[in-house]
Amino acid sequence: MTEPTFLDGNAMAGALGEVFAVDVTAAVARCDGCGAVGVLAEAHVFMDAPGAVVRCTSCDSVLLRVVSAPGRTWLDLRGLSYLQLATPSAP
Ligand SMILES: [Zn+2]
Repeated sequence: MTEPTFLDGNAMAGALGEVFAVDVTAAVARCDGCGAVGVLAEAHVFMDAPGAVVRCTSCDSVLLRVVSAPGRTWLDLRGLSYLQLATPSAP
């Protein structure tokens, strides 16, 4: 059995944590390719591209891409229908 070439979505905590003030790995994402809905932490993350590529576990479509350089981060979310983030409730 070969080792998987990807990590799980928890690998995105650092890069996305710099952009979002909430825990993005707990976010629920809907794949724009097949409609699968799941927690981002369970997605497949490939770190061997320029930046990180997060792929759908159902259809392997690209959900999002993150490329970081000193002082800036590019975030491509076009593979998502939506990203549902938990936000603190108002008092
Ligand atoms: Zn999909």
